[in-house]
Amino acid sequence: MPTNQTSTLSKTIFYEKLFRQYPKNDSQSRGMAADRKCLNGTAILLLEWYDRTARVLPWRERRSLYGTVLSEFMLRQTRVATAVPYYLRWLARFPDFRSVAEASEAELFYLWSGLGYYERVRQLKRLCEAICAAKSPPTSPEEWQKLPGIGPYCADAIASIGQGYDVIALDANGLRILCRLSGAGPFLSRSAAERALRPLADGLAIPGRCGALGEALMDLGNGHCRARRPDCGACPLRSRCAVARMALAPEDFPKFPAAKTHRQERPRLWLRDGEGLWLAASDGRRLTGLYELPTLPAGAEAGPVLCTLRRRIASTDYVEPVHGAGHRLKELLAALRSDGQDVRHFPPAQLSQLPTSGPHGRCIGALLARESRLSNFLPQ
Ligand code: SF4
Repeated sequence: MPTNQTSTLSKTIFYEKLFRQYPKNDSQSRGMAADRKCLNGTAILLLEWYDRTARVLPWRERRSLYGTVLSEFMLRQTRVATAVPYYLRWLARFPDFRSVAEASEAELFYLWSGLGYYERVRQLKRLCEAICAAKSPPTSPEEWQKLPGIGPYCADAIASIGQGYDVIALDANGLRILCRLSGAGPFLSRSAAERALRPLADGLAIPGRCGALGEALMDLGNGHCRARRPDCGACPLRSRCAVARMALAPEDFPKFPAAKTHRQERPRLWLRDGEGLWLAASDGRRLTGLYELPTLPAGAEAGPVLCTLRRRIASTDYVEPVHGAGHRLKELLAALRSDGQDVRHFPPAQLSQLPTSGPHGRCIGALLARESRLSNFLPQ
């Protein structure tokens, strides 16, 4: 959408009415009373819809503070459908804060293996240790934010969903919905959008139901108000939505400056001998504790490319062509060791027990399966 159209929209009556930061509990202003009524009506519509249609999720079925914390960690940068089986496995093995605090990092990494963003594992362990060391868990977002691995959104989500604190947690779904309801923007950054939309979220708050309202925003953002191709026709907030009422493209909200991305190529090695596969223990802070295919040392020569891995982490696109060793296995192993890579040999039966990053784990499985199919055609 053209920028001037966006800025026109940001000046709509709807936006102006909802967005003024009236002091809370100032009932002298009739305008404010109207705004509060409008926001309260929106919150009630949202809650009615949530109470009828809330997603059934394991951390909602049996609620506990630990379950809320765990789900919030797992859902960072991860889709709900991906997180659910990991959540169930983790809960069966580590049922409370203490069990995580006392577990070794290797055990935790093994169960997290494939979920990505592995720094979360270490943060979760540190958080559980801090909670176990304290007399009792924190009870407000401000206190939660003092603990390891807890940012403003996570603190609001844990306090409201897990402890009934009266604040609405705004994740990316919530921000998108409020932006579309109000027609606000464009914004210079996500934090600018959070600051601008916070008064609107506070205006939606209904004491005692803020956790449910936060979850309702998550469900609406997942089900109807999706980033792409939102389903406005079936949306329970359609009558309250500035973007829908003006027949604007919801995909244009929220609007941010285009992010700069970088491309980084990192060739990898498939080092196979008759008895197993050589993998490298990762030493990067983000992936410590996991095994990956070794990185081709600078200046070393390898065989042809077998496949190419692609993944985006934050604003970097990683491209990883995986080379076979050709006839250079010994030479490459020597080069890897002098390059400082911690390469270790694993028999195939052990590979499925190793903590690996998701893309490398899938690549190892696919290349082993390909080798096994090819061996069927070779003379015995
Ligand atoms: S009407 Fe459409 S754009 Fe507006 S909140 Fe609902 S799904 Fe989102």
